[in-house]
Amino acid sequence: GTGTGTGKVVLITGASSGIGEATARRLAADGHRVFLGARRTERLGELTGKITADGGTAAYQRLDVTSADDVRAFVAAARERFGRVDVMVNNAGLMPLSPLAALKVDEWDRMLDVNVRGVLYGIAAALPVMKEQGGGHMVNIASVGAYEVSPTAAVYCATKFAVRAISEGLRQESAGDIRVSLVSPGVTESELAESISDPSAREAMKTYRSVAIPASAIADAIAYAIGQPPEVDVNEIVVRPAASA
Ligand code: NDP
Repeated sequence: GTGTGTGKVVLITGASSGIGEATARRLAADGHRVFLGARRTERLGELTGKITADGGTAAYQRLDVTSADDVRAFVAAARERFGRVDVMVNNAGLMPLSPLAALKVDEWDRMLDVNVRGVLYGIAAALPVMKEQGGGHMVNIASVGAYEVSPTAAVYCATKFAVRAISEGLRQESAGDIRVSLVSPGVTESELAESISDPSAREAMKTYRSVAIPASAIADAIAYAIGQPPEVDVNEIVVRPAASA
């Protein structure tokens, strides 16, 4: 990291663990200024401290992406702190897998709120700022579940199909103005599986996760998309373990 604040201003939701945390570290090391959001502020404080100690530039604010007001305040705070908003990484997500017949309606609602509404609120908050600045880059984190459905993952995949549809719509409507990248991980080391309450889905996930790739692999893909020249728009990247079928 240069520590001089010459890079882009990158906002990351869900930066307190997993892919968001790895992305914050990687982008800060590349010389970007990162503004980090999540609910667990102790974690964000620690991460900000580490990035700063390594010569990077980072700040954070508590963020619950299920509140449109919160997301708007988050974007406003980043702009206040760093003067602009170049990239919005809509990464926060949950994956409480279960069969539909288990009727975990509350978990369906939470997934829709965080994985879909959270991304929409991110767009609602960042898009006007980017338009005003004359450009910007929306990076939305989907999943291999945005392309295929599997048992216990119907609702999760529905949220990720939605993120993919929203990203493509935004790309079409904002061509020439806003760059849009959809980054879709396969199984990756993180805390994501901890939100699974269904015993059978939890057990199945243990086997599935044995081939997980490091979160830094997804951070590398995000860094690649962000690092392209302004006329180059990287629209979709799928990164999965080589061992995945
Ligand atoms: P983690 O559980 O490690 O990270 C999820 C992040 O989302 C945490 O920082 C959490 O922070 C944040 N978050 C959850 N709810 C909210 C909320 N309401 N408001 C703000 N932040 C919230 O999992 P990953 O790093 O794996 O997940 C990141 C993204 O990657 C997700 O969208 C996930 O669906 C996607 N993905 C992950 C895969 C994997 O195998 N790991 C595969 C495919 C996609 P906090 O709890 O502090 O708020």
